[in-house]
Amino acid sequence: MHKITDVSMEYDVLRENSKLARENYELLKEHDIMSVDFMGSIGSGKTSLIIKIGEKLAAKGLKVGAIAGDVTGEDDFGRMKRSGIDAYNCNTGKECHLDANMIHRALHQMDLDRIDVLLIENVGNLVCPADFPLGADIRVVVISVTEGDDMVRKHPDIFLHSDLAVLNKIDIADAVDVDPAVIAGDYSRLTGGRREIMMCSVKKDSGVDEIISEMGL
Ligand code: MG
Ligand code: ZN
Repeated sequence: MHKITDVSMEYDVLRENSKLARENYELLKEHDIMSVDFMGSIGSGKTSLIIKIGEKLAAKGLKVGAIAGDVTGEDDFGRMKRSGIDAYNCNTGKECHLDANMIHRALHQMDLDRIDVLLIENVGNLVCPADFPLGADIRVVVISVTEGDDMVRKHPDIFLHSDLAVLNKIDIADAVDVDPAVIAGDYSRLTGGRREIMMCSVKKDSGVDEIISEMGL
């Protein structure tokens, strides 16, 4: 996790991030780009979900771009590219989250006129990405049944900082002995009964169309 221990310094970092996030948002709007920030643990299925959404949006005639945020390597970036998405790789080095400055730099390297929808994959982590808005229109948190039934209870902050929550891999819920209803109940309680977690299996292509329509696309 990030190593800022001085409270006033952390305040400055977050304030600077918010300012840059606002600039990113405005730049994306200037280019008529709708953007989504996908947050979630390693292995929750963010890359697979992004690729599936990308394929479906491309079939609707939309031009899809993506930013793959990872500490190191090109695995997710390569998968996105191979699926036909106009992807940009963003290695964070030691950082366990993307921040608005990294996105700012990425946006200046990308051909924004060739993108209608930008899908950003944050670094796999349910903690600090919540503190660093990137300037996206929507923030989505993706968890999967393989993480156990207590993710909402353990990480309420990230769920409260996102617009949409997705529970992936429901097709193997029985095999990992997790009841999706428990997770759905926790999320509903956390959001005061105002929202429901979206059940999905990227592998079986179930629930993905609903997520896309919930994103307004
Ligand atoms: Mg990934
Ligand atoms: Zn972090």
